[in-house]
Order: sequence, then structure tokens, then C-alpha cells
Amino acid sequence: MSEEQDWRARLNGRRVVASISGGKDSAALGLWLLEQGIEHERVFCDTDWEHPDTYAYLRGPLTEKLGPIRELQSAGMVAGIRAHGMFPSRGRKWCTDELKLAPFRAYLGTLDDDVVNATGVRAEESDKRAALPAWEWSEGLDCESWRPLLSWSFAEVVAIHRRHGLAPNPLYLRGAERVGCWPCINSKKAEIKLLAETDPARVAEVAALEAEISERRGAPRAFFNGKTGRGTVAPIADVAAWATGRGQLVILPADESPGCWRWGLCERPSQAGTGEA
Ligand code: SF4
Repeated sequence: MSEEQDWRARLNGRRVVASISGGKDSAALGLWLLEQGIEHERVFCDTDWEHPDTYAYLRGPLTEKLGPIRELQSAGMVAGIRAHGMFPSRGRKWCTDELKLAPFRAYLGTLDDDVVNATGVRAEESDKRAALPAWEWSEGLDCESWRPLLSWSFAEVVAIHRRHGLAPNPLYLRGAERVGCWPCINSKKAEIKLLAETDPARVAEVAALEAEISERRGAPRAFFNGKTGRGTVAPIADVAAWATGRGQLVILPADESPGCWRWGLCERPSQAGTGEA
């Protein structure tokens, strides 16, 4: 049985719901589903914490090419931080669960059909993703997860954008390695540098939240999980200074946890750095 015969047999009239993040891989997924003539709907989980370019891209060029994209709302990142009195962290990663998985699961629960969730996850992006199967039961979403682009190369992602005359999210062209929360708690140094250099308003917003939560807690709290070279909590001012080469060492922990990327709810930077143009 060919790969196509296999997925056509598995789909067999089931309802396909595609996860759209505003990034290149999920855009490629949407284009590919259209090319294959697979009936589907598109869903975006809004954290209310995306870059303005992502909202504009999603609601503009991407919708024009793919068709309507349903936006699922959550309380939002800022409201979540205030409600928890803490930032999400590797140990308490409530952001993925509450801002993305829970709204998505709730939406899927309103559908009577047997649902397949299609995502744009690609093996090339990391060893961990390479270990994922094309089909898997998702306990988190309580449906089957399908990764039809798992074996795709970056060149194939670019090619399908070109075939359909769809430019990528402009964030990539400005140097971003990923599309997701702006910023994500697991941002890499280059991403924080881009944030610091292009969006002082968001940096100030994070700094104000840090001050607010630190005061409530009676101890320093920070958005990123990094430590300064002295081993103390690294507030965004220190992290931004370090990322732009103006400050002292900050140590960010490597993110090993399966987060949004596993379910195609956002992207992660590629290991090999081959991910973007
Ligand atoms: S992109 Fe990052 S900050 Fe946003 S929900 Fe996912 S892990 Fe949390």
C-alpha cells in the first residue's frame, strides 16, 4: 500500500481539523491539504501573545490562500500570568495546556465527528520530532493526530509556498527562527535579541509584569527561566542586554520538554539551523 493509499484509507471520511500556527510548516500543511483535495477546517489557538505580524499574516495572506481560519480564544498569556501569580516555566508549563491545548480540546469536544488533527510537524526540525510517528493517539486532545509532512524537507516547504504564491510570515524575513508566543518562555538567544532590538514596548510590558509578580510574591520572578552569571533570577532587562551583547552572562536552560511543537501548535527553532530562509 502506498503512503497515499494508507492515509486515504485511514481518513476514510473522518473530519480533519488542521492546526495552524501562522508559521511556515502549518501554512505548508494547509496548502498541501488543499492540493490533495482533503476536506478540512483550520484552527488557530490564540494566546493573545503573538507578534502583530503573525495576526496580520494569519488574517490576511494566509486566510486568502487557505480559506477561513477559526481562532480559538483563551484567557490569554497576561491574564494567565496574573491568575497564577507566576510565569509559566519548565516545571509549571501551564501556558501550553491552558492557552492552547484546553481551548483546542474544548472545541474538538463540540464536534460530533470522529476527528483527525493534522499538524505540520516535520522530522527534519529536531531529533525528537524525527522520533515521532506519522499517526498517534493524542491523549491531550483526545483524538488521533496526523503528521503528513513528517518527512518533508525545508526545500519542500519553500516549494509549496512558491507554487501557491504565498509569502512566508514576515517575521522570518526579519530574522525570527520560529513563530509562536512573542516571546515564548523557551526563546533562544537570537529570538530574544530580535525581541530586544525590534519591540521595546513588549520588553517593557514583560518588565512591568515581572515587577508586578515579584511584588506579589515578595521575591524576584522573571519571564525567562534563565539565571545571571551570579546565579540569581534574570529579569528581562538582563536577558535582553545579554542577548544584544551589552550585558553579562545569562544562562538559559535547554528546553527538553515536549511543548507546543509536539502538536504543531507553534514552531520551534531547528537543531541544525536549517529551518528558515
Ligand atoms: S509558544 Fe512557548 S510560551 Fe507560548 S504556549 Fe507554547 S511553550 Fe508556552
